Amino acid sequence: MKTFAVFGDPIAHSVSPRLHNKAIADLALDALYTRVLLKDGNELINKFRSLKLKGANVTLPHKEFALNLADDASEAARKIGSANTLVLKNEKIYAYNTDAPGFLKAISNFKEAKSAIILGAGGTANALAYALRSQNIDVCILNRSKARLDKFKDHYECFSWDDYKEHKFDLVVNSTSAGLKDDLLPTPKEILDGILKSAKFAFDVIYGKQTPFLKEAKRQNLACKDGADMLLYQAVLALNLFYNGSLDEKKIEISMREALSL
Ligand code: NDP
Repeated sequence: MKTFAVFGDPIAHSVSPRLHNKAIADLALDALYTRVLLKDGNELINKFRSLKLKGANVTLPHKEFALNLADDASEAARKIGSANTLVLKNEKIYAYNTDAPGFLKAISNFKEAKSAIILGAGGTANALAYALRSQNIDVCILNRSKARLDKFKDHYECFSWDDYKEHKFDLVVNSTSAGLKDDLLPTPKEILDGILKSAKFAFDVIYGKQTPFLKEAKRQNLACKDGADMLLYQAVLALNLFYNGSLDEKKIEISMREALSL
């Protein structure tokens, strides 16, 4: 039997075990997926090996440790600067990032987007910016504070709230945690109104609730999506990586979608 796990802190809320165990059962795989509370990211690989895992997912706040401590990493994970999936192959641990392709699958119906603004400059924004750029979509980053923009400014157009000048974008992505546990918008209302009035599509990485950002985007008649499909697809792609790409992703998706709606 293969054992997989998700590492994070906190981890009790993670839906990954529910998604993966449903797909494991439906696809009749001989495996088990569990969760591990990990306080110290430096211990990630030691824990992975001592639990004799064949694969793992890594969530906040350990995605950079996953990239840096693995034996090898995909080009995408290296360019993004973080990994959410670890796979054991021939006793070596490989790091991947499935958030980026998961996001692209989630926005696949936003076909005509040629330009995008990402609100927020945290770890997730890196994966989203890389994903959009890979599709030749122009990317601009807008963040509350200047400090986190440093790691983006060589590659993307960047603004803080203080120096933002009005632009037009097809797609607006909220990658901040504003709206997760509060009723805040990701930018001041006047900035957001200016962005939304000329945009066609809105995506929020937050899932499971109608955020003030999505409410505002709906009010302005944009096509909207929350982060549930991104969560789903990153898991679909991760499970298939655990099995070296040999599984049927459509079957995994059907199974995990059922688990998500339970
Ligand atoms: P980080 O902590 O790395 O970054 C948070 C970002 O949000 C920063 O840019 C920060 O700005 C900004 N921010 C925080 N609070 C506010 C606020 N009140 N107003 C404006 N900006 C704010 O987080 P991550 O990038 O790792 O994660 C962001 C979100 O993405 C989380 O809600 C997470 O749950 C979600 N997520 C969803 C996934 C999915 O599959 N759907 C996958 C991964 C993450 P500043 O620099 O000024 O502090």
